[in-house]
Amino acid sequence: MQTESYLALKSRAKNIVHSDIFDAEPLLLSHQWPQLQQAITAIRQKVKAAELWAPHLHKSLGGQGLSVSQLGDLSALLGQSPLGHVCFGCQAPDAGNAELLHLYADERIKNEFLKPLANGDIRSCFAMTEPAMAGSNPTRLNATAELKDGYWHINGHKWFTTGAEGADFAIIMAVTETDKPKHKKASMIIVPTDTPGYSIKRNISVMGSEGHGYFSHGEVIFNDVKVPEHNLLGQRGDGFLMAQQRLGPGRIQHCMRWIGIARRCFEIMCNYIKRRHITDDETLAQQPVMQVKVAESYAAIEAAQHLVQATAERIDQDGYAAAKHDISMIKFHTAQMLQQVMNHAVQALGGLGVTDDTVLSFFYREERAARIYDGPDEVHQLSLAKQLLAKFD
Ligand SMILES: Cc1cc2nc3c(=O)[nH]c(=O)nc-3n(C[C@H](O)[C@H](O)[C@H](O)COP(=O)(O)OP(=O)(O)OC[C@H]3O[C@@H](n4cnc5c(N)ncnc54)[C@H](O)[C@@H]3O)c2cc1C
Repeated sequence: MQTESYLALKSRAKNIVHSDIFDAEPLLLSHQWPQLQQAITAIRQKVKAAELWAPHLHKSLGGQGLSVSQLGDLSALLGQSPLGHVCFGCQAPDAGNAELLHLYADERIKNEFLKPLANGDIRSCFAMTEPAMAGSNPTRLNATAELKDGYWHINGHKWFTTGAEGADFAIIMAVTETDKPKHKKASMIIVPTDTPGYSIKRNISVMGSEGHGYFSHGEVIFNDVKVPEHNLLGQRGDGFLMAQQRLGPGRIQHCMRWIGIARRCFEIMCNYIKRRHITDDETLAQQPVMQVKVAESYAAIEAAQHLVQATAERIDQDGYAAAKHDISMIKFHTAQMLQQVMNHAVQALGGLGVTDDTVLSFFYREERAARIYDGPDEVHQLSLAKQLLAKFD
């Protein structure tokens, strides 16, 4: 995994993350959205000039063509800042959507949507979850797409459509095959966001913040939206199959991003307690109760990283199907580790921990959801347990 060219790439990336990207964070934390966008645009130019753009994409699409394990390793670096993936052009949901278009779109759709998406000229979102249905079991979704006279007529009500604000197109998951078994009912269809009938009802307020652009989650209405038949991705009824393929690589990236976040929280915690005097002679770092938190956090991060890296290497060697149960395991295990480390760090910083003067509270607010999105803990735990228990039949 650690080839010379990859290590050189990572070293160039580290320089940008630890200088330009960390420097831009206060704009995010103080919600200065136009200035933040300008900063992101400038950093992206630097990233492109340094041949680091879109590390997840194949070279033919202007990316860096990294392996799953290299991409995971880089993700842990980029994850140290909420702006890391955005500045490198590999943020969710665009990264997964680009992968879908690469695998399933025809040439016309690739030219119209994939090329500008890969280049960072446009943005996208992914609309599957619905307020009225349990997202944990998306096969029960309500949205429909009916083919009439060469057009899909789409109706649906979605929410938690991340990055809907500012997106140029959505990939919607809708029922197209009413008479098929539940896993073969839904398809994915591209909807340009300027199509009549498409609207964003609101950015959902998450723990007090509506966010903006990349950092927002929209409630989205599809009211008799009409798009051409060729906007279908892949085959009719293959939506869930494709969703699984989209989520597989994404889970390694998410897990390694969470490891990056945990490491940043750990560093902020250690820097604080080393310097914070509670008496003339003693710092917080000298208190055994803090030392336990440091040791516990470190061990938890290291253990999670080994597990995720081993899974990424397994995928590189044997493919996603072979690593299915490892992927379930790392999803809930890493998300829980992240929550524990963030919590220790916030507590260790006292009042400062809950302010927006450090990045901790942003992570704490936004990443509580790590245990919910892309399958809640329980769904992955059930899936893993079933596979394990089957061996005892
Ligand atoms: C920040 C964020 C970003 C998101 N981004 C997107 C996006 O871009 N596009 C999109 O389509 N969706 C997105 N989602 C939606 C996400 O995929 C769903 O929230 C998730 O699948 C859970 O569905 P639900 O919210 O309907 O919870 P429910 O299905 O109602 O489940 C509620 C809780 O029940 C528990 N549970 C669920 N199933 C079981 C079970 N079988 N046994 C025991 N307990 C169980 C879990 O603890 C779960 O959290 C996002 C969500 C969040 C929070």
